[in-house]
Amino acid sequence: MALLISPQSIHKTLFCLSVVQTRALRGVAVRDVTTFVPPATNLNLATARPTAVSSLRAILRNNPPSHRRIPISIPAREITMSTEKTMSASADSTMSTSGTTLPVWTHLLPLSSIPRFLSLSSSSEKKEMETEICIIGAGISGISTALELTLRGHHVTLLEAREVLSGESGRTSAHLTNDLDDGYLEIAKIHGEENASLVWQSHGWARDRVGEVIKQLDLGRDCEYRKVDSYTVSQYSVNDKGYAKEMEELKQEADMQGRLGMDTGFDPDLKVKGWNDGKVQQKGGIVVKNQVAFHPTKYLVGVLKWLEKQPNFKCYTHTRVVSVEEKGVEVLGLGHKSVVVTTEDGHTVRAEYAVEATCVPLQKLSVIAEMEFFRTYCIAVRVPKGSVEDCLLYDNAEMYKYVRLTACDDKDDYLVVGGCDHKVGQEETTTRFGELETWTRERFPQAGSVDYRWSGQIFEPVDFLGFVGKNQGCDKIFIVTGDSGDGLTNGVLAGRLITDEVEGVANPWAKVYSPKRVGSILKNLPSLVAHDLQINAQYKRLLQSDITDIEDLVPGSGGVLNPVSTVCVPRG
Ligand SMILES: Cc1cc2nc3c(=O)[nH]c(=O)nc-3n(C[C@H](O)[C@H](O)[C@H](O)COP(=O)(O)OP(=O)(O)OC[C@H]3O[C@@H](n4cnc5c(N)ncnc54)[C@H](O)[C@@H]3O)c2cc1C
Repeated sequence: MALLISPQSIHKTLFCLSVVQTRALRGVAVRDVTTFVPPATNLNLATARPTAVSSLRAILRNNPPSHRRIPISIPAREITMSTEKTMSASADSTMSTSGTTLPVWTHLLPLSSIPRFLSLSSSSEKKEMETEICIIGAGISGISTALELTLRGHHVTLLEAREVLSGESGRTSAHLTNDLDDGYLEIAKIHGEENASLVWQSHGWARDRVGEVIKQLDLGRDCEYRKVDSYTVSQYSVNDKGYAKEMEELKQEADMQGRLGMDTGFDPDLKVKGWNDGKVQQKGGIVVKNQVAFHPTKYLVGVLKWLEKQPNFKCYTHTRVVSVEEKGVEVLGLGHKSVVVTTEDGHTVRAEYAVEATCVPLQKLSVIAEMEFFRTYCIAVRVPKGSVEDCLLYDNAEMYKYVRLTACDDKDDYLVVGGCDHKVGQEETTTRFGELETWTRERFPQAGSVDYRWSGQIFEPVDFLGFVGKNQGCDKIFIVTGDSGDGLTNGVLAGRLITDEVEGVANPWAKVYSPKRVGSILKNLPSLVAHDLQINAQYKRLLQSDITDIEDLVPGSGGVLNPVSTVCVPRG
């Protein structure tokens, strides 16, 4: 296949190369599903509903498929283990989320305690309503953006397809940190040291902003917000072959972080309290001071409860947005452009600005093509209180493990252990929870029962940074996406960045997160193309389709929709 790529054509071309999604359909969680769609389709596949895909269906009928299904197994243990909290086994089953299993956060905050809002169609709003800023998606990005805008006096309407917090923000592991997963050596290599400094400053601002908001809104200690150290240690035991090399890499990363101004050091003798040195001896690593662990849903519910009381804030759930379009013309201050947001049940919201805080953007699939999509897994294991150091812990593996504590009861805490990431739809998933448990028991023999197992979606932009700002080709529509595993701080910083942009306040972070950036994406083009070619080879998707319709996908299966289509869906 010949690829012709220029800065101008890159967004369109890359779309044709790769779209990998995990999605929930008809309220049923579908994990590790690979779905490819034609370009120019105005859909968010992450949460698309059958009724929203009729145009896609029409396109696909013109491309007869081979009717091959790709079975992608769901770990049976993830669904059936008696200790695990599943949606159906709980009183929370009335609430739809992006997964079938319940995350540990529901232990102290059941889904049934999350505030409910009316849908737009059951409210007293007119079929055509107006607002100043319409935010789509009630996860940490949408809620943080709503908070910053509301605090500065703007009128905000928040629309959510399911319930609030039913996306990845409810399924996170909640390390609130500017010790970013990709490492500053890599970030500085692509973006330069000056921009890498802006990155740690902005994520650091977000980490601390959550603490300020807790104080400002009087949300109290319930949010479990606390400062802890963050450690990165070798994935190898002290005597293993790879250990010395990893220590050298960690030292270099610590040096880079120090050079950028972070409060970081390399400690050759670092020992993590509670890590038993039996089978895997641990010593040495990076120490980053003043990082944060918190309870994500308690915090976000607190913010929502405050927002609910503000006269300049409205929220509607079970209100699925199907299109966001700029209308009108504005040139050199003349004329006027606004945004029209249309919902699945035919309501329109006219706004000065719209913010797509939908995790995966609704339109502009080219942004989606600039990311790789991963499934990540978590377990929550009981450990006696005080037996493990309260810290954020990472190992240095490519697909690393991440660890933190959260409250369980008077006797125990939960050790939340995550990792075993894999590209969506490309690898076996059945063994992931078992791997996490084995890893934990080898290092923390005090580990008791595994009470929660869950998984979720993360995205990796090719140049490691989130996309926050005006969408490609847009003046009035913002997007927030591309978490890179640090989507909580990405979502919180989005609140400030977007509010500044709405008010015309210059913000130094804007350039590094701009969805319109091209230079850093081009620098990593080889890895992006390699990834896309690998997907093409695996699924032969330029040659054939597996399914005719998104509705053909059942839980635990994936399919290829042929992206080569002569049919174009015009954008209004
Ligand atoms: C297991 C796991 C561990 C993680 N650990 C960390 C961590 O330790 N630290 C960190 O910083 N990040 C972490 N992340 C990433 C982080 O949790 C996410 O990036 C972040 O929560 C995304 O927030 P969001 O608001 O952008 O998206 P979401 O929380 O997914 O919210 C998007 C919302 O938009 C709604 N929506 C979508 N489409 C529509 C539509 N058409 N109309 C209306 N509404 C719509 C969805 O229903 C959803 O509620 C982790 C993620 C996972 C899965």
